[in-house]
Amino acid sequence: MKPTSITADRTQGTLTITWDDGSTSVLSFKVLSDMCPCAACSAERNNPDPLKVIRARSYELEAIHPVGGYAINIVWKDGCRYGIYSWDYLRMLARMVN
Ligand SMILES: [Zn+2]
Repeated sequence: MKPTSITADRTQGTLTITWDDGSTSVLSFKVLSDMCPCAACSAERNNPDPLKVIRARSYELEAIHPVGGYAINIVWKDGCRYGIYSWDYLRMLARMVN
């Protein structure tokens, strides 16, 4: 399944994805940033450093870039810049939070 539209609402802090079966997924910037799928962030989630001071993030979106028709790269202003969010991963996140 692929998105027919992806809309970022910077005021609400949400990403709304409409899929080609007509269904819609709404994901908050917070969930998307916290669940950045890049290797470094995944490793940190799986093995958190208890001594690390968790930085407060603003969860501000900087940019969204298409990646080869199967994913988007979401760049966060003060989060990670390297997350490649595949359609499958976005659907998995949407199932997790809804
Ligand atoms: Zn990351």
